[in-house]
Amino acid sequence: MASPQNYRSWVEIDSPALLHNLQALRAQIGTGTGVMAVVKANAYGHGLKLVVKTLAPYIDWFGVANLTEAQEVATLAPASPILILGSALAEEREGIVAGGFTPVISCLGEAQAYAALGNGRPVDVHLAVDSGMGRIGVWETEAVELAKACHALSGLRISGVASHLPVADEDDLYTLQQLTRFRSLVQELRSMHLFDGPVHVENSAGVIGFPSDAGDLVRAGLMLYGCAPRPEFQPNLRAVLTWKTRISLIRNISTGRTISYGRTYVVAQPARIATLGVGYADGYQRHLSNRGAEVLVGGKRCPVLGRVTMDQIMVDVSSVPEAVEGDEIVLIGTQAGAEISVGELADKAGTIPWEIFTGIGPRVGRLAAG
Ligand SMILES: *Cc1c(COP(=O)(O)O)cnc(C)c1O
Repeated sequence: MASPQNYRSWVEIDSPALLHNLQALRAQIGTGTGVMAVVKANAYGHGLKLVVKTLAPYIDWFGVANLTEAQEVATLAPASPILILGSALAEEREGIVAGGFTPVISCLGEAQAYAALGNGRPVDVHLAVDSGMGRIGVWETEAVELAKACHALSGLRISGVASHLPVADEDDLYTLQQLTRFRSLVQELRSMHLFDGPVHVENSAGVIGFPSDAGDLVRAGLMLYGCAPRPEFQPNLRAVLTWKTRISLIRNISTGRTISYGRTYVVAQPARIATLGVGYADGYQRHLSNRGAEVLVGGKRCPVLGRVTMDQIMVDVSSVPEAVEGDEIVLIGTQAGAEISVGELADKAGTIPWEIFTGIGPRVGRLAAG
């Protein structure tokens, strides 16, 4: 069993918090709506195995980015249906059908390719509709026509209809209009009996902002991991991940010396500096250099000084005289009542929580908390 001793930096995963967030999600959407847990990109950096094992008994679908991820999830949760969220490469299609995974299609070419792979059994696909995302899907004005053409293919079955929301955390008016248009398109497809299966459109921000449009199934990622893309829901969620490292060295530094590459930080008064075993190669972004980033040392916030390097960062621990080499440091999470959220780190790095989470690298251990 891996322990923190095996790593200079690791994340601890609180599985009860994951289940708490799933409960909060279910309370928001009500009982008529299923949950697809989105676990792409190593479960948003949290570590696929523990997340899938924890959630599998309580969710309806898993959502992943590609065939490889689908295969990994299938070995961990053989009974769960798995949707591949993005357009598949031609080379992936055979494996998708053989594995029993559900792809999304955007055009007749993809539909025909899947229809040819079923060996006499119709291949289940979900029809992706582009109602405003501008990424994949058939344009909504052409959706009925494509659905009819798919319906005529004997080797294919549209077993779900999907769309995606580009501004559910930024533009409520656009999102409401988008949801209304999508709803009426779905009604049209349904009345023509062109598909049978779940309709899904909402990501975490959609679930929080527009719960009455949750439909048959929601595709939730970020909120399950305890971060609300709309702040009003944050009190309902618990952070799942705590990202830690250790002090590898402590030195006293005198006035006038400089810290790290570029010599961007000049020491103004004698200080006690800790070197930590984490860097941008672990996902502690170089964009956090000289941006006011802090870490928790003994429950106190301590500033990151100078540039983030590949494997190490330097922190001023002058305010924590009891800190010693080997001490656990929190980069994201709580320590003795203090907290650094993923949102805080994302803001300081000029990015979004999704990128901070998924950027946590393979060198960082994934451990169960407690
Ligand atoms: C990643 C993804 C989601 C999950 O989004 P969150 O904002 O993390 O909830 C939902 N749908 C699709 C199509 C995705 O690619």
